[in-house]
Amino acid sequence: ISAKEKMLREISLRLRVQQQQWQDSPEGQKMLELRRSLPAYKERDALLKAISENQVVVVSGETGCGKTTQLPQYILESEIEAARGASCSLICTQPRRISAMSVSERVAAERGEQLGESVGYKIRLEGIKGKDTRLLFCTTGILLRRLLVDRDLRGVTHVIVDEIHERGMNEDFLLIVLKDLLPRRPDLRLILMSATLNAELFSSYFGGAPTLHIPGFTYPVRAHFLENILETTGYRLTSYNQIDDYGQEKVWKMQKQAQRKKKTQIASTVEDTLEAANFNRYSHWTRDSLSCWNPDSIGFNLIEHVLSHICKNERPGAVLVFMTGWEDINSLKDQLQSHPVLGDPSRVLLLACHGSMASSEQRLIFDRPPEGVRKIVLATNMAETSITINDVVFVVDCGKAKETSYDALNNTPCLLPSWISKAAARQRRGRAGRVQSGECYHLYPKCVYDAFSDYQIPELLRTPLQSLCLQIKSLDLGGVSEFLSKALQPPEPLSVQNAIDFLKVIGALDENENLTVLGQNLSVLPVEPKLGKMLILGAIFKCLDPVMTVVAGLSGRDPFMTPFDKKDLAESAKAQFSGREFSDHLTLIRAYEGWKHAERQQSGYEYCWTNFLSSQTLRAIDSLRKQFFSLLKDTGLVDTDNESRNKWSHDEHLVRAIICAGMFPGVCSVGNKERSITLKTMEDGQVLLYSNSVNAQEPKIPYPWLVFNEKIKVNSVFLRDSTAVSDSVLLLFGGNISRGRQDGHLKMLGGYLEFFMKPGLADIYLSLKRELEELIHC
Ligand code: ADP
Ligand code: MG
Repeated sequence: ISAKEKMLREISLRLRVQQQQWQDSPEGQKMLELRRSLPAYKERDALLKAISENQVVVVSGETGCGKTTQLPQYILESEIEAARGASCSLICTQPRRISAMSVSERVAAERGEQLGESVGYKIRLEGIKGKDTRLLFCTTGILLRRLLVDRDLRGVTHVIVDEIHERGMNEDFLLIVLKDLLPRRPDLRLILMSATLNAELFSSYFGGAPTLHIPGFTYPVRAHFLENILETTGYRLTSYNQIDDYGQEKVWKMQKQAQRKKKTQIASTVEDTLEAANFNRYSHWTRDSLSCWNPDSIGFNLIEHVLSHICKNERPGAVLVFMTGWEDINSLKDQLQSHPVLGDPSRVLLLACHGSMASSEQRLIFDRPPEGVRKIVLATNMAETSITINDVVFVVDCGKAKETSYDALNNTPCLLPSWISKAAARQRRGRAGRVQSGECYHLYPKCVYDAFSDYQIPELLRTPLQSLCLQIKSLDLGGVSEFLSKALQPPEPLSVQNAIDFLKVIGALDENENLTVLGQNLSVLPVEPKLGKMLILGAIFKCLDPVMTVVAGLSGRDPFMTPFDKKDLAESAKAQFSGREFSDHLTLIRAYEGWKHAERQQSGYEYCWTNFLSSQTLRAIDSLRKQFFSLLKDTGLVDTDNESRNKWSHDEHLVRAIICAGMFPGVCSVGNKERSITLKTMEDGQVLLYSNSVNAQEPKIPYPWLVFNEKIKVNSVFLRDSTAVSDSVLLLFGGNISRGRQDGHLKMLGGYLEFFMKPGLADIYLSLKRELEELIHC
């Protein structure tokens, strides 16, 4: 046998001895006992047999039954026992960074090892793995990136895709790629794991792969909907608008139960906020009118109320609160900290659980609190399935969820909170029944729940596909439409076409859908393509710093805060930065630069406090800017010399023009009337500005156009983040000023001009632009 084989055999033997030693040790025995109590253990042999006999296996089982921590371990252990330890290599993907980290840590501990020995993890910009690492937990994005350079996943023996029921875009994307790969790698094993029972869908996608179910056990959980909750808090809904069997609509009406009783502060706030939230306005709830009721606006006081009710009147047990995102979690945490009971650390252990928390904080979430202290965990929907907190007895569910968008490098555009599905609500409720029977407080009425859809719509079907299309192109996976038609549930051809058209308009694809040079550069920038284009233009036009600030600001959250009770103060603080430039983007740049200056004087915190800015968000912008810069440096587009890179950074006209180039084709016309402004876009007709825009406060905007980042349809169409621009700026920078292939965008721009101007004028403008472009071309 060759020297290499000999070495592999030695490693395999060593791994086997190590594993055996741990399992024979007293701690190892204890750990094994614990692991054997999990429902997955009963299925261990069946699972291993199915995996050895089939290329693809689908495994389903209740959250907490041991899929993530046990299944990959079973495979690893059996490979090591069979003296194949050296040649096996398992990759287990997780949709979230934090679960990849926490799970790997747990599995290493269960194997009596440090992270980086046989178990490791890898997430973007971070990871621990060593030469002996055989089981790697990573995010789905990491595996996709690996597939980019290593099409056949050479050396990998098992791929385990976890949490497939979540149907994230990356996971659906990965499944298409893996399905293509399987025939080329007949020895590769693929295991799909899901918390719900709709495993059939995945099984049939892989040609009828066998499915295995791990039966679990949970205790019953009682569901309380808003109407019952209000009752226990002194208010009652006398009737509500279910459409009854005869098609008659009843109307929501709230009545104080004890009319003349002492009115408590909180109770009146709950009532007021319910009023404010338009509770009474809608006669029946459909999915459309659901969007009009925003639980966030009633949320905090109601949650506080329910939590203090639990702490005062209920038996011991941890509380898990499902919120929409970490901004909400942080603000609620702040609010609760000043509550007499909830904020008292001797009685309540208040913890936040979200993607960016430190691992020391993570551990507290799993630990049991001291006797007499109630653990309250505020979490995002990641606590639905990817982590399990065993001692939870009470669940509070706000009914909405948002994709985590704090990490712009995940390539996910910011999403608004939306209603969860029935499956997700059930899942949340189930979290209360791990160790004993539990209670779940759904902060919405039963009829709202009835209007939820059964399952979450896959991300692929509800997000813009621009970034994904660009990725497919840069991975050279063939025609976008053809590739996406192979998805588990393919997106509408129209949304694929929209994305392709958009990429053509911004010049990332040419007329034949081939990647342009711009497109190639955009595909390595982990931001939306139009924002990536803005970065590149900022580099070319030597005003990189302010442009990076804008892009970082647009890809994350808004640093301007508007506390409910200090709205006016916050608005006037923000107005100071606007300098009557009629631009949210330039306002952000000024606020950020002021903060940087204050930071250098050690007064960043005071600066944020007096100006209603979130220092956390500003810091996030700062770190994003650093990451953008290092990525841009790799493309070779930026000067390393700070001076020349920012030669024109102080020129606000130029920066405004680059913003225009980035926002295009988000353009609306401005019509100034007596006292009001009318805004129109070509597709929507009249549109409105979000109230937090600096332009919303202006009686008049002395520019003919506004370019905007995003529009969102609520009742009317609302624009977010706008900047006023002149004719000439729109003409020169609106659309693709790179050479060639302008037809698509010229048509587009032409459409705009014709829509808003006299036809003759539009022609002149267009021919001017063509000439200009030729000039640039030369
Ligand atoms: P599943 O993937 O099926 O939802 P897991 O494998 O994640 O289940 O979890 C199995 C069990 O291990 C659960 O009871 C959970 O509470 C426990 N567990 C998971 N992670 C940790 C941890 N870091 N510390 C302690 N217990 C954990
Ligand atoms: Mg799991």
